[in-house]
Amino acid sequence: MNKNITPIQEKMFQEMENKTIFEQAQNYSFQYLNEVFDRNIFPTEEALLNLEQFNEDIPTETGNASKVLEFLNRFGAPATMAQIGGRYYGFVNGSVVPTGLAAKLMASFWDQNTAMNVISPIASKLETVVEKWLRQLFGMPDNVVAGFVSGTSTANLCGLAAARYRLLKKQGWDINEQGLFGAPKIRIVTGKHAHSSLMKAISLMGFGKQNIEWVEVDDQGRIRPELVPELDEYTLLALQAGNVNSGAFDPFEELCEKANKAGAWVHIDGAFGLWAGAVDRLKHLTKGMEKATSWAVDGHKTLNTPYDSGIMMCADEEAIVSALHMTGGYIILSKERDPMFYTPEMSRRARIIELWATMKYLGREGIDQMVYGMHERAVQFAEALQEVEGYEVLNDIVFNQVLVKCETDELTERAIQKIQDLRECWVGGSTWMGRKVIRVSICSWATTVEDVKRSVESFEQAMREVKLGDLFGG
Ligand SMILES: *Cc1c(COP(=O)(O)O)cnc(C)c1O
Repeated sequence: MNKNITPIQEKMFQEMENKTIFEQAQNYSFQYLNEVFDRNIFPTEEALLNLEQFNEDIPTETGNASKVLEFLNRFGAPATMAQIGGRYYGFVNGSVVPTGLAAKLMASFWDQNTAMNVISPIASKLETVVEKWLRQLFGMPDNVVAGFVSGTSTANLCGLAAARYRLLKKQGWDINEQGLFGAPKIRIVTGKHAHSSLMKAISLMGFGKQNIEWVEVDDQGRIRPELVPELDEYTLLALQAGNVNSGAFDPFEELCEKANKAGAWVHIDGAFGLWAGAVDRLKHLTKGMEKATSWAVDGHKTLNTPYDSGIMMCADEEAIVSALHMTGGYIILSKERDPMFYTPEMSRRARIIELWATMKYLGREGIDQMVYGMHERAVQFAEALQEVEGYEVLNDIVFNQVLVKCETDELTERAIQKIQDLRECWVGGSTWMGRKVIRVSICSWATTVEDVKRSVESFEQAMREVKLGDLFGG
């Protein structure tokens, strides 16, 4: 043994050298992939109970690497949601494109810090490339820059930070130097169905939810353009591509033009819906969105990159960089892209690697086919459910979301519970226009015609059991 190394170093050098734990992890992972497409979607009761195993104090002594992995696999894997399969329809999530997953695996070994070009030339390069691809895919102007963050919540925050910087700067106020106390006013205009993450960003930005000028929406949750108040150059108009419930899109063309004339800032929350803009037969939905000022979109939803992958895009580079900029004597500015200027974080993992790999693999045609497939499965789901006694579809299936109600809110809740208990698929609940609803989000490349059939059958069985429960008083 080398006397110059500590025992823990020796142990870990050995683990790196003989690689058995990596083989072990790979075996577990492959086993997981073999089962996940056909297993119970939500963990079984037993798997949930076994989570108790994790309740322990921090170990005193250094353990055995192989045993740590064994433990994690034994009690962790069964307690996962089978999210990458084809019958998970919860929230608006997403599966994972195999190439993206494999690239993430490689990126795990590289363990890059994306902060600066000088720290990771590859991450800097891929961010530059993907930024251009996104512009091309969405038909955005050349001045649009992108920042790669954890999700749309953060991307929304970044977009609003840039807007705040710009809208105050126009009034002679430097937010970075002068702060928010005593600052001139900014107007915030958004639709009544704006996503909760936008509300969070509004709070965090110090705008105050009470200051929002709310605009009424139509029966699909789209902002009603004729009710949008007069805009001016101190206004932030926040729109959305993909209502989290109905999947509906705000009328971008008309509103962006109106806003641009007034000099207002338009931010679009397009977490899952912006990808409609990359699909020939769906891009009418996002028409005009390229005229906005900032956008937020996820890789980990419709595009099916691994978690976590959010993208902030902004047509006002000076505003976004000024809003997120940090300086320090130790920072080396290179001629190439320094990724941290476009994100709130300094150090972060190179999530760009799997985003790049996913886009490089799918290409325009693959994205088109994959996303349109989600839409087709949503249409299939809705049509099949219309035939099932006890369910009613409430929304127009413009994209990938299906909203379903039963005769009463109570029945809807019991149906959701039953469907979840059956574990054949997984759906969650939401509220829509004052009613409890089941929300079905088709957001996985893996969802097949057969998966939808199986899921609709499970809906049917759930309703039978709910009704039987009624007959027998419980
Ligand atoms: C999911 C979602 C968000 C939040 O995105 P995260 O990636 O979960 O942070 C914001 N807006 C809409 C419309 C969404 O669907």
